[in-house]
Parts: sequence; C-alpha cells; structure tokens
Amino acid sequence: MIVFLLADGMRLDLLRELMAGGRLPNLEALVREGSLCTATSTFPTTTGPAHLPFITGRFAGECEIPGIRWVDKSRGWFSRTYVSLLANGKMDRDLRGDVETVFQHAPSACIFSHITRGARLKVPPFGHFFSHALNTWLEFDSLGMRLTKRCCTKGYALVFTLLSGIDEFSHRYGCRSKQAFAAYQLVDRWVGRLRRYLGALGVEHEIIIASDHGMSDTGVHIDLVGKVRRMGYTTGSYPLSLRKGEVFVAESGNSMAHLYFRDESRAPEVAERLCRLRGVDLVLVRTGGEVEVRRGSESAHITSEGERCRYEATEGDPLGVGEYEGRWMDRDEWHAATLSTEYPDSVVQIAQVFGSRRCGDVVVTARCGYDLRTLEVPEHKASHGSLRREHMLVPVLSTSPLRVRRTTDLYWYMVERLRAWHQQGRGSSCTSSPRESCG
Ligand SMILES: [Zn+2]
Ligand SMILES: [Zn+2]
Repeated sequence: MIVFLLADGMRLDLLRELMAGGRLPNLEALVREGSLCTATSTFPTTTGPAHLPFITGRFAGECEIPGIRWVDKSRGWFSRTYVSLLANGKMDRDLRGDVETVFQHAPSACIFSHITRGARLKVPPFGHFFSHALNTWLEFDSLGMRLTKRCCTKGYALVFTLLSGIDEFSHRYGCRSKQAFAAYQLVDRWVGRLRRYLGALGVEHEIIIASDHGMSDTGVHIDLVGKVRRMGYTTGSYPLSLRKGEVFVAESGNSMAHLYFRDESRAPEVAERLCRLRGVDLVLVRTGGEVEVRRGSESAHITSEGERCRYEATEGDPLGVGEYEGRWMDRDEWHAATLSTEYPDSVVQIAQVFGSRRCGDVVVTARCGYDLRTLEVPEHKASHGSLRREHMLVPVLSTSPLRVRRTTDLYWYMVERLRAWHQQGRGSSCTSSPRESCG
C-alpha cells in the first residue's frame, strides 16, 4: 500500500535545514534509506490547484481549476471560491469531467483532501474552519495522522492525507517561526510512529511525503484590487465585493491573481500600468492565441501548439530563457531548459494555465516579499502562488528510491504501483467506479 502525506507548504530549504540540524530525525532516516528529490509544482502554486498534479497527473489549468478563486465568463460570469465553509465537494464538481483521479485506480481513503473523486472513504476537511478560528492546526494534523494510521489496516491500497499545519502557521507567523517549525516536527514524529507501527504489523508499504508549493515571507501587501480601482475601474473580488464590476480580481495564494475584464480591449492598458507597480513581478496577458509575458520593461510571447511551445522575446528576456528563445520545444525540453532559471518550468506552466477557459484575461504575480492582497485578519506573513522558484520547487520524500521531475510524475508513479498491486491479486475488493485498472 501507499501512504501519501501532502505536507502543504513544506519548504525544501527549511526541510533540509531542519534535517541537518537534527530536528527531523525520522524524516532524515527515511531519506537515508529512501530518497529526497526536488520537483516542480504547477502554476498557480496554490493549495487546491497545486494538489491536482498528484491526484490527476495534470496541471491546474488542464483540470479547469486555474486558481482557488476564478470566474467562468462563458457561464455568465459564474464565480467560484474554495475559501469557504461551503466549499466542500466543489472541486470534485468543477474538475473537468473526463479527468481520472488516482483514487479511481484502487480502493483509496482520502483524509481531509479537497479533491476526492473516486475515493472509497472521504473524510472532509471541516476541521479547517474551526482550526482557522481556534488556531488548532497541530491538533488537526494529529487527528489526520491518527485517521491515516487507522486506515492503513483497513484494506486500502492508497491512503492520501492532507496536513495543513505548516502552510497555515507559515502564513500566520512566518515561514521560520517556531510555530511553523513545530508543524514540520509534528509530521516528523508521526512519520516515525507510522513506520514503526506498519513495520511491527509487517504491512508492505511505501510512504511518500510531498509538498504542493514553497512559500516566502511577505512584508508588503500591494492591494491589487485598490490599485485597479484607482485606475478608474469598478472592481469585484472575494470575499466582500461580489458585485462583478468592470474588472473582477481573483487572488490565489496571495502572490498570484486572475483579472477578468468585461471589456477585454482594456486589458493591455491595465497590464501596462500594473507592470510599473512596485512589488508586481510578472504580468501575463492573453493576446489572441498567444500569451504576452511582461516583467517591468521586458516582454515576450508564448505560443502553443498541442504540447509544444515557443517563447519569443520582444524586449529583453523576462523569463531568463536565454539560448532557447525562439525554439519550438516539447514539455520535457522546456522543463530542462528552464529548471535553473528564476521561473522553473515557466513556459509550459504559463501555457497550461492560459489553456483553461476559466483563466483570467490578465494574470499577475508578486515579487518575493510582497503579496497582492489588502491586509487580512489575521495578517498574512507568508505567501505563495507565483512562478518563482521559491514557490515552484517542492520536496518529494519517499521510502523508495524515487526520482520525479514534476509533481504530475507522482500520479503516474502511484498509478503504476497501484496497478502492480492489482496484478498481485490484492485488488479483488475494489469497489470504486469501474475502470480498466479495476477490471
Ligand atoms: Zn498549499
Ligand atoms: Zn497557503
């Protein structure tokens, strides 16, 4: 069986630092016996959308969930937020109908996951809302791990658990706060306990621990909604101003936002002004069948044909692509070409998010140290959502010698393992919806 622990917001550099300091002995032992590798996430690097690659093998835009808030202009400006007490089950419904999940390949248990399509056991994350109010994230993660341990002996081939403490405490107290570190240590203690428990029972298992995105500390809130309003436009936004306005601003992870225009001809002018704002990093604009990439005074265009993309610089080189500029390349080639830049996998990630009909006319990201929101209560001290490497690169730990490049690769790896599980004759009790792999 596979136990997949999604340690939301776990940072690669802090994980390494805490392991080197002897503060995560169980994870350190797991890595020594198994593996630790770095993978790229999906854009936007936001809780929810960035969980999709693990579960579906696809990027957020390909699943038609291009943010934690979005608007579907083709459905009469239908707007959605997943940041709500009533959001449970909505991601499963919004997920593109033909997208398979890893949970449909074998009997699976989902603990606190927002996406559960095809799982046999679904434990909804209602406790998130109480934890927001009562700040009981350690207790909530402990509950998640107790349920995980219990599910390991109930015949599931996959137990998928979301642990939110690191992300939530990093937002509330900062990425290097003692509270955030306590959440890393809680994961460590529970991994140790779980391995000892499964070892004593003789249960054949693999534990994978991965993060959906990195995080960076935030000191300045740009207030993108206020900035657009001061440009002379009426605005709509969550949570308070649902009136759609001329421009609807939908933030994700606080460092990324979609902007939807009633009059799309105004988008280039607003994009031009956004480029000049302090703290704004990338401004991406849909222009016909292309995406214009702007960063300060630099600009380029991304064109896609199927899974091949081309990046053509107009002024400077905003994504730092260098010698690969002007070439048509496939997804793997672009991944290799951009991995060491400030924006890993940028070309493919921009193309995929603009491939969604729910993507904004303009997408904005913040520089590190800034975010796009107004002041929130409690104030956010850390953010994610952007294409920068601080947000895009995530750790993947496993009890097996595992090497993946993108978080989508983990889906295919798990599907292969679950198929093997079936072929070994242990899938006879599969009751999920009929699929080839269950046949
Ligand atoms: Zn997250
Ligand atoms: Zn977060």
